[in-house]
Formats: sequence, structure tokens, C-alpha cells
Amino acid sequence: MKVLVTGGAGYIGSFIVKVLGERGDDVLVYDNLSTGHRWAVLYGKLVEGDLNNSKTLENIFSYFKPDAVIHMAASVVVPESVKYPLKYYRNNVINSINLLETCERFNVKKFIFSSSAAVYGIPHTNPVKEDMPLNPINPYGSTKLVVEKLLQDLPIQHVCLRYFNVAGADEKCRIGQAVKDATHLITRCVRTALGKCRCLEIYGSDYDTDDGTCIRDYIHVEDLAQAHILALDYLMDGGKSSIFNCGYGHGYSVLEVVNKTKEVMNIDFPVRFKGRREGDPPVLIADSEKIRKMLNFKPRYDDLEFIIRTAGNWEKRVWEENLF
Ligand code: UDP
Repeated sequence: MKVLVTGGAGYIGSFIVKVLGERGDDVLVYDNLSTGHRWAVLYGKLVEGDLNNSKTLENIFSYFKPDAVIHMAASVVVPESVKYPLKYYRNNVINSINLLETCERFNVKKFIFSSSAAVYGIPHTNPVKEDMPLNPINPYGSTKLVVEKLLQDLPIQHVCLRYFNVAGADEKCRIGQAVKDATHLITRCVRTALGKCRCLEIYGSDYDTDDGTCIRDYIHVEDLAQAHILALDYLMDGGKSSIFNCGYGHGYSVLEVVNKTKEVMNIDFPVRFKGRREGDPPVLIADSEKIRKMLNFKPRYDDLEFIIRTAGNWEKRVWEENLF
């Protein structure tokens, strides 16, 4: 199968490319390398370019003739989206429109979209089901919801995957996330354990949870990549357009993640309690029944220790080899 992966040089995209390549699919990555890396593309061809460039997109479609598109390219930093909403609408919405117009022109009818649990905003109940109310509370979440809605209005067979908290890296330490200004909890924890940050700050200890810190559903990036493959095969088998949560269905508190990191990396590190971070839902856990039942999703790495260990080993390599 020929699969075009936009954003395939990024953190999650590179794992999808790896799984597609391993099973022998023909992959073409289109990425502007703004946050992605050339070294992260382990299979297929990489074309450097931006989705705002309709001419290059057309050239790619006429040359590669994809059977399906997996659309990962997007801006993904929530606080940045609050500061620069127009950048986010342009990158995430307008560029998706360019891509979908090209799909229409070249009659590409299978489309997988990387959406986010950010479309739920602050859910009233947990675990969150796909049909629960959608109330994004930041521009990032809004842009994801706009594209989900747009897809529903198009005659294109599609799957939207709503990611919960993605973490971890390749067990063989070939690929993983490589960002200088990491904001995500697990990256920051392993970084602090490695002595690259002085102290781990915990945003809020007065939430209505057992230990007062926020709870999240952390999914290993390898399982998330597998979810895309299942979604792709589902579409190729004629499955109808659908939306799936991607999480394990249970969560860990910030303190649990911190303590597990200390245990896994066998080191104590300083922790400081700070005030709440704006826009953080107290608990965010996926109801993952739908993807388990409809796509037969069977996670292999539902193990916080494995997630932290792979993230820690990877982070070490990133700093040693300056892979940022
Ligand atoms: N968090 C924290 N300290 C950090 C980074 C994150 O206490 O240095 C908390 C954050 O407030 C949230 C949870 O960890 O409750 C997960 O945050 P992350 O940024 O990893 O993902 P998000 O859930 O915001 O997508």
C-alpha cells in the first residue's frame, strides 16, 4: 500500500512510518522539519515541504499516487496556541484544507487524522467516551475539532484518532521525542532525573484526586502508532468513518509518575509544588472500549515503568548526541 504521512518526521509520525515500513508499505513522508528530524524517518522517502504549498502537494500526489493519507503535521503546543491562535488556525486548519483539496483532486478517499483529547476540554465525567460533549478550552483543541467537523462534511472515508497523553520511545533507542523546551510531564521527569533540570515542578496539589495532583492516561507511542495501522486497515477494508479515543482506560497522578521515575531511574530528584497550570483538567482518562472492540486494539506497552524506561534511555541519547 502507498501511504503519504504528513508530519512523518515528527515524534508520533516517525513511529507510524516505522511500523508501516516494517510491514512493507510504501511510505512517503511530507514534513517541513520545523519540529521533525531527518534522522527520525527510518523508512520510505522524505520530501521536505510545507502544507501551505499546494503546488508541491500536487506534484507529490501525481508522482506518488497515495492510496491513503495519514495527516500528522500540525502545531501542537497548547500554551503557544493561546499566544498565537492565528498561527494555529493557519497551520492546523488551513493547511488541512489544502491537503484535503488535494485529496479531492486526486481522488484519494482514505484519510486518518491525528486529533486530540483536547477536543473534550474539561470533561464532567471520566473515563471519557467519544460521544461526550466537545468543549475545547484552548485554540489547539479548537483547531482539532474544526478539522474533525470538516471531515464529517466531506465525502471522504476517514478516521479521527483522539490522542490522550503520549509518551515513551523506541525500545532500541532509534527514535523518540527530541525537543529542547519540553513541556510534557514524563520528558521533564526523566530530564530532571538525568540532571538536565534542577527540579521538577508539580502544577497543583489541591485537585479533587486521591493525592491532590492531576491524573492522565499515558499511552506508549508504539501502541499509538499501532492504532494508526489498525485504523488504516479498517478503512482499506471499507470501514465507515469513525472517531476513536487512543488511551489505555486508566490513569496515573503526577505524583505517581514522579515517584515511578525516581524508582525506574534509581535516583532521587528535587520536586517543588507550584500553583495550578491554567486549563488543566483534574482528570483525563480515555474510555478505550470503542477502539478495542471495533479495531481490535490490543496494547502491548500498557506499563508505566516501560514508558518511563524507554523515555529515560532515549532522553539520555538525545542529550549525548545533541539530537534536538
Ligand atoms: N505537569 C506538571 N509538571 C510539569 C509538566 C506537567 O505537574 O513539569 C502536569 C500537568 O499540569 C498535567 C500533567 O502533568 O496535570 C500532564 O501534563 P502534560 O503537559 O504532560 O500533558 P497534558 O495533559 O497537558 O497534555
